[in-house]
Amino acid sequence: MFMMSYQLPEFVIERREDKCIKCRVCERQCAFEGHEYDEEFDRMFSYEDKCVGCQRCVVFCPTNALIIKPHPGDYRPNANWTREKLQDLKKQAETGGVILTGSGNDKGYRIYWDHLVLNASQVTNPSIDPLREPMELRTFLGRKPDSLQLEIDGDDVQITTELTPNVAIETPIVFTAMSYGAISYQAFKSLAMAASEFGTLFNTGEGGLPTELRKYGKNAIVQCASGRFGVDPEYLNCSAAVEIKIGQGAKPGIGGHLPGEKVSVWISETRMIPEGTDALSPAPQHDIYSIEDLSMLIYALKEATNYEKPVSVKIAAVHNAPAIASGMVRAGADIIALDGLRGGTGAAPKIIRDNVGIPIEMALASVDRRLREEGIRNKASILVAGGFRNSGDVLKAIALGADAVYIGSPALIAMGCTMCQKCYTGKCNWGICTQDPYLTKRLNPEIASQRLVNLLRGWSHEIKEMLGGMGINAIESVRGNRDHLRGVGLEDWELDVLGVKGAGEV
Ligand code: SF4
Ligand code: SF4
Repeated sequence: MFMMSYQLPEFVIERREDKCIKCRVCERQCAFEGHEYDEEFDRMFSYEDKCVGCQRCVVFCPTNALIIKPHPGDYRPNANWTREKLQDLKKQAETGGVILTGSGNDKGYRIYWDHLVLNASQVTNPSIDPLREPMELRTFLGRKPDSLQLEIDGDDVQITTELTPNVAIETPIVFTAMSYGAISYQAFKSLAMAASEFGTLFNTGEGGLPTELRKYGKNAIVQCASGRFGVDPEYLNCSAAVEIKIGQGAKPGIGGHLPGEKVSVWISETRMIPEGTDALSPAPQHDIYSIEDLSMLIYALKEATNYEKPVSVKIAAVHNAPAIASGMVRAGADIIALDGLRGGTGAAPKIIRDNVGIPIEMALASVDRRLREEGIRNKASILVAGGFRNSGDVLKAIALGADAVYIGSPALIAMGCTMCQKCYTGKCNWGICTQDPYLTKRLNPEIASQRLVNLLRGWSHEIKEMLGGMGINAIESVRGNRDHLRGVGLEDWELDVLGVKGAGEV
């Protein structure tokens, strides 16, 4: 039965007719069919109800004839029944389904990075000019010994402590898990190329690592998730580190689903499943129901990789993250990966993305404190994800206790993403979250990887500038040093959880 939609359009498409040359570029660029040329009338038409606001047509219009902006038409103002609530409800009345979305949580929860400020040196401790003096951003991920035993014989110094494997990265910024399947081959390859060029890591997500990209393995964190897609000994050994994925910030507690129509012959080969079948990731890892079970998997993976790779365990930031993290470290995890409330996704139920989990700032501070209190902080590195927007956020996270940060959305934005949140449709006009060959060929890995390298270079340089301003020449000296932070506009309980003083307190 045909059912007319009662939803209001989200965007207005304004086409300045005096500028439009009817080249039809916008028509070709829009996978959502928001533009159409009508031969009979020799003019372009717009369909505002189809527009998702991805801005691809605006960027590519050769005459700047297009403006896409939020639709001003609205329901009667109502503090309780906002436009979004009404639209979602109407959508469900029309479909009877779960509302899906992509990207990260866009709700107005407090962004703590915007309420934390960094210190700088004045008079008593001189600042350092990073252009003239060496600044160290190199970071080692993995378990560290509590102390080093040395054997010294004249000039010969031998370390006799048994060291566990660590991965060295040239900047404390790592590309977060994004699977081949959720993102295009071109986007996946761009991340691998950029990580390799800059000396950092990318994360395969749960979709395996295509054979021809295994040359980037020494820059890869390979994931072992609940679906076990693409996991075999060769995959595990072709990596810098292995990550067990328990949870994800955008959808804590639930699994994933890549529809069969997206499982092309290439994706099926990489994931080791038949072409065209649904790739279902169960919500739990079916062999993990306790810390002891987790420990068994950690050691199975260490065994499979000859104890040469650090093993990371990734969880979503939830209320009892500190106790869980403590258990993970005791179970043998070398890296604790925490993914916060604002972590992105290719597809998640909107109700889960927007309502489940806690902000990464709070999770990080409380996990770091718990591990310190228990005297086990050295036994694992902390990698945090979910909501980093610039190098200031990164440095604040390190001062709060992180060893390094995972970035996802900033990497996508560097490649062209405009946060339209339509990743789950498979029609990403920027060629990122799609498997449609017409769309994926829009992303050139040579160009996209260069944009990613530029982003890493820019942020790394800014971090060095901020460190220099603090009179510090190594990122290691800031790690977990909350005295470099002050809170602005925060309640006492928030300062307490974050473990920072208020601005003006000494
Ligand atoms: S891309 Fe610009 S100039 Fe070309 S048809 Fe569309 S609006 Fe007109
Ligand atoms: S990846 Fe593509 S579909 Fe997803 S938010 Fe970005 S532009 Fe939109």
